[in-house]
Amino acid sequence: MSYLVLARKSRPQDFNQVVGQKPVVKTLQNSLLRDRVAHAILFSGVRGVGKTTLARIMAKAINCQQRTDANPCNTCSSCVEITAGSALDLYEIDGASNRGIQEIRELKEKIRFLPTSSKYKIIIIDEVHMLTTEAFNALLKTLEEPPDHVFFMFATTELHKIPITILSRCQRYELKRVSTIDLGKHFQNLAGDEGITIDQAALDLIVREAEGSVRDGLSLLDQVFSYGEKEIGVNDVIQVLGLVSRDIILNLTRALLEKDPGTAFQALDNTFNFGVDLKRFTGDLLAAFRTLILCRINGCQDLIDIPQQELDLFKELAGKHSPESIHMKLNLLMQGVEEMRYSSQPRLALESTFLKIIQADDVVPVSSLLSKLDSLLEGKELPQKTVPPEPPEKKKSLELRKKPPGVSPAPEIPTEPPPPKTSPPVSNLADSTPPPAEEPPLPPEPEQPVSLHQDPKPIPHPHQRDVRRDWPGFIEHVKDRKVWMAQDLGRADKAREVGGELQLHFSDHANCAVLRQKQNIKLLTEFVLDFFQKDLKLHYITPDKEEGDTSDNADSPHKLRQKLANDPLVIMATEIFNGQIGDIRVGPRSR
Ligand SMILES: [Zn+2]
Repeated sequence: MSYLVLARKSRPQDFNQVVGQKPVVKTLQNSLLRDRVAHAILFSGVRGVGKTTLARIMAKAINCQQRTDANPCNTCSSCVEITAGSALDLYEIDGASNRGIQEIRELKEKIRFLPTSSKYKIIIIDEVHMLTTEAFNALLKTLEEPPDHVFFMFATTELHKIPITILSRCQRYELKRVSTIDLGKHFQNLAGDEGITIDQAALDLIVREAEGSVRDGLSLLDQVFSYGEKEIGVNDVIQVLGLVSRDIILNLTRALLEKDPGTAFQALDNTFNFGVDLKRFTGDLLAAFRTLILCRINGCQDLIDIPQQELDLFKELAGKHSPESIHMKLNLLMQGVEEMRYSSQPRLALESTFLKIIQADDVVPVSSLLSKLDSLLEGKELPQKTVPPEPPEKKKSLELRKKPPGVSPAPEIPTEPPPPKTSPPVSNLADSTPPPAEEPPLPPEPEQPVSLHQDPKPIPHPHQRDVRRDWPGFIEHVKDRKVWMAQDLGRADKAREVGGELQLHFSDHANCAVLRQKQNIKLLTEFVLDFFQKDLKLHYITPDKEEGDTSDNADSPHKLRQKLANDPLVIMATEIFNGQIGDIRVGPRSR
């Protein structure tokens, strides 16, 4: 007796046996019951979801001689002939191999005549998108006014390749991938019919591999059945089909998220020993990360089509990590998989990717960083309090460079802490972020008394304001009086009070050229007196030339340290991580 593959043996013979596709089946049945079947029907969907099966059942039902409801009887001569594939009035054409205009002409010739033994002639064209444009054009007229005794059934996996003129003349049915639940039930029943017991985990694996295609699943089931065992467990399926165990994937995913390189490498080794294809292995791993992300997105859980038990495990794992972290790791994994494909050492490439993922730090959502920064802005004193006092000889930490505060919308700041209600844009954060406790080494000013870069929390005279702390407020003060001057002051990198002087640091000489004009110095000095209640002498400091400074040497450690502290990368890093520069060492050892 010849062996019949499951896919053929179990092909549905009436609508009740169709797996899934409930809405389409119902519509078709209603059209039969109401005698309103369209003369051209187009079924579309991925492979193995039942397109030609439905077309054949429709053909049977249309020609059935003793149909009483919406199902073919499967016993009359017409039904029997169609089932056996010997019906004279049913033409099944493969669009891929009969795609030319000549074939369509021949077909048109055939349908001119009335059916020989049935009520209707039925043309089923599979993979209809393969027809040439000429062939489609030749079909157009017939589809527009089909003879009463003819029905067309088209099936396609690529709906978009079909000309719109054809589409508009057909009744269209889009078949969905079959759900895992429907597939699982169907396969379980088939196994029962074959007298084979298959455990749930093994079945889940096959269903998953089938990806919603009944036919693909049946081929896999065939393979597993051929294994010869009467009881099939998950390991049999893994071995026969060369799949990756779900446990391995889950453990590996967990190891990658929880920074456990040992487990990750072990999982990879196990997979290798099983002889699993790396491409499919990485595909499964990527799918696992996708599942994790979907678990964390509200309303997306319907998109996850995996067994409930597995879903619970994934949900638990996803709950422990931020969506941002999972996403970042998924991205790293995708890059790694891409690199692996072109690597002569794919395993090594993959291991390296695993390490990269494990070493990658968790991502903190921007929103939480922003709220952290907001709270910093509100309580300006916070970082100062956290700075541990350092022994005086180690005073090398540098203040974050202040960004130009001129554009800051910071309001006029009273003597005491700033009003908490306004939160300046992030870009101006540095303006209001209080500097760390210690002053950076100042540009060499030999006559400066050292005691001036000292107290972490200067407590000024009650009416006096502090240059460092109230600088943004001062700029606002100036802005109300001289807008251009506020803008120029905003370009200053730093402003600080040193020994009766207000030192203004500019990275570009041009930025303070106007401020240096005599009348402007006078004006600014008055503003300073008004605002800070201090009579300070203005001192502009620019990189190329420092006023009143003769002893400076471009390569001095002070300068180098300052340069490093002002490096944009360093500044950005300290801002992003809310950090402080603790120590900068320059000298032969660090070079
Ligand atoms: Zn019948």
